[in-house]
Amino acid sequence: MKPRDLSAHSVYRAGRGLEEVARELGMDPDDLVKLASNENMYGPSPKAVEAIRDATERMHSYPKASHADLAERLGECWDLSPDQVWLGNGGDGVLDYLARAMLEPGDAVLVPSPGFAYYPMSARFHHGDVREYTLSKADDFAQTAATVLQDYDGERIVYLTSPHNPTGSEFTTDAIVEIAERTDEETLALVDEAYGEFTERPSARQLLDERDDIAILRTFSKVYGLAGVRLGYGLVPEAWADAYARINTPFAASELACRAGLAALEDDDHRETTVETARWAREYYHEHLDAPTWESGGNFVLAEVGDGSAVADAAQHEGVIVRDCSSFGLPECIRLTCGTREDTKLAVEIVNGVLS
Ligand SMILES: *Cc1c(COP(=O)(O)O)cnc(C)c1O
Repeated sequence: MKPRDLSAHSVYRAGRGLEEVARELGMDPDDLVKLASNENMYGPSPKAVEAIRDATERMHSYPKASHADLAERLGECWDLSPDQVWLGNGGDGVLDYLARAMLEPGDAVLVPSPGFAYYPMSARFHHGDVREYTLSKADDFAQTAATVLQDYDGERIVYLTSPHNPTGSEFTTDAIVEIAERTDEETLALVDEAYGEFTERPSARQLLDERDDIAILRTFSKVYGLAGVRLGYGLVPEAWADAYARINTPFAASELACRAGLAALEDDDHRETTVETARWAREYYHEHLDAPTWESGGNFVLAEVGDGSAVADAAQHEGVIVRDCSSFGLPECIRLTCGTREDTKLAVEIVNGVLS
């Protein structure tokens, strides 16, 4: 026997891991700096680490209380009811839940190009068709209502990434409202704020008070440094918040993840230092890289270097792993995650050396 026809499905290609690259180059992982996956330069929130250690004794139980507590706590943070907080196994898990809740077989979705690879994957898993809107490099990847609406044709979900990965560009709240207004009543504008903490712009959260056609995605992977734990959440309108109970995998987030998330939310120091350093590093990249960069609201910067794959390869041999953007359809670019001050300076020195 065989699985169903999966030929239209693609494989997710993550940024390369430290151990993987170190082994291949015969290097010590400690001599490599990884700035390829927009992970937190300070590691996990120490409070979350402690919470996970404490929670190990409870691993034999289903995470009933912790799941409810985390939804409640996040509801308080965002001034929403706990029902409106959809926990998931990473932001990716939440993308699946939203697709599962929205798509009938054959419904189409609209995704950005370049864009986050998991949107089309998730839509296809849920028997959706995928269409694209284009962020144009000539236009500095500007994200406006027109960018999206000129390619919109009645799709059921429109994915909006703000700040956008890998370019760093952003939508204004007005643009998001215009998109929601000018698309069909049954079209969901899914605003992915995976990097929402790093921008100075407001969240689209306020729109949930007025509209039932917007959902917001947030994650603990980036600012909280919990990418390995897999924890994210959606914020959804009150009108259909109860759909979660009908579509979620029981206990979408694990006991360890929920405990870590609860603790990380209380760790202001870790979050503030992370955001502050990321904002510093963005400026440092803009000012010191010998390559054009784009304004970014995230914890990363896109740079145009000519042959992205060759530059990433050479930089890796010198000790820094950056993201070659070929898989995003930008073979002339690399994406550099914001590191600590030390790592960011080292990355600039190495990439500039490679470029000269
Ligand atoms: C990192 C990221 C996510 C979520 O990642 P998870 O680790 O699954 O939480 C979602 N969208 C974008 C654009 C991202 O870069």
